[in-house]
Amino acid sequence: MKYYIETFGCQMNVHDSEKISGIMKSGGHTSASAPAEADILIFNTCCIREKAEQKFFSRLGRLKSLKKRNPGLKIVVAGCIAQQEKGAVFQRAPYVDYVVGPQNIHVIKELDGIGPHYTACEDNPLIADTEYQTDRADSVKAWVTIMYGCDNYCSYCVVPYTRGREISRPAVKILEEVERLAQDGVKEITFLGQNVNSYMSDINFPALLKKANEIDGIRRIRFVTSHPKDLSNELIRAISNLDKVCEHIHLPLQSGSSRVLRLMNRKYTYDDYLKKIKLLRSALPDIAITTDIIAGFPGETGEDHAATLRAIEEIGFDGMFAFKYSPRPETAASRLEGHLDEEVQSERLYEIIDIQNLITDTKNRRLKGSSQEILVEAVIEGREGPILHGRTRTNKIVVCHQPADTDRLIPPGDIVDITVTKTARHSLAGIVRQ
Ligand code: SF4
Repeated sequence: MKYYIETFGCQMNVHDSEKISGIMKSGGHTSASAPAEADILIFNTCCIREKAEQKFFSRLGRLKSLKKRNPGLKIVVAGCIAQQEKGAVFQRAPYVDYVVGPQNIHVIKELDGIGPHYTACEDNPLIADTEYQTDRADSVKAWVTIMYGCDNYCSYCVVPYTRGREISRPAVKILEEVERLAQDGVKEITFLGQNVNSYMSDINFPALLKKANEIDGIRRIRFVTSHPKDLSNELIRAISNLDKVCEHIHLPLQSGSSRVLRLMNRKYTYDDYLKKIKLLRSALPDIAITTDIIAGFPGETGEDHAATLRAIEEIGFDGMFAFKYSPRPETAASRLEGHLDEEVQSERLYEIIDIQNLITDTKNRRLKGSSQEILVEAVIEGREGPILHGRTRTNKIVVCHQPADTDRLIPPGDIVDITVTKTARHSLAGIVRQ
């Protein structure tokens, strides 16, 4: 049978879709190039914000007609909406056949013939020991899940309810996966988890980084996401001392107001956060720091918002994902008083984005003329010859031409030094240094 996967949401879902594809292929299924060609349509969904949920249901509605044309078509709703809504998905969309939570994706290849309206959303205590056959989209870079779930219960976040309690994969299994990826030619791995800083099996996260750093063939190591409360001095030393661990950290601040951080149940104050930034920058002066900010959290005053703007200026992030607060079912924040009008939220969001844009522009402009190491991720044929697409160690996107006076074509997976010749907000341009 042919399957088609549509993915909504974060890196975790993108990687889960690679696993779902691997699971389907191991069950003898093949991938379809468009929904209309599929016998099984799989939606890997996200419910982190209300908008993401609406986007999915409107897409689902648009594809309903495919089922009319092909009554044999099976529709699977997987991912976070599946876990959050469970059987309620069938009430909203009776033409859906199966609802499968993130801990149960292994059942997807066996669903045909079961049903109708089958739900698999139970806790899976074996998830950390399950080895998934993964159908990876990229041959240069790879995601590696090191842990599942989250125990932090930030008051706005639905993840602990959709992805379950935090559980770490055994280090030996992770390192075997990295070894296999290295043998397949992968150059960069990104360790993935809701809060990788609290990874703990028989070893902790800095020790895992150290062991991964020793694997031949892997040239770069990244990780996402970090919770500021668990960013230890030992981890900062590991980032600083291990040559393959890249100088970039995504460290969600969420708010510059300690009062709001308390309402968010983030378990750090703004001062705690700032101290960690200072430690990071004293160990790694050129580290890039990116963050997440929530605009208009319930009860956020004008003064709280001003504190966030001051924090953004004081820290000078390299980049940011900023969103309006969106109430999510079951979360503590949805029950808080003082929900703000969308208009106020939007105004605050624009102010946040405006300040960050100025900072990003200034920071990127300073890179003009600098030398950067890039990992070439793709080579695309342009009008004036092949164009290299890659990233710096600090995770900035770079586009540059192959050197004109060389016959050697630089392939994806190569690491080259470039000089930055032009900068923009979201990318740099450069020339390869000979
Ligand atoms: S750390 Fe907080 S924001 Fe991140 S996944 Fe866990 S509960 Fe959600």
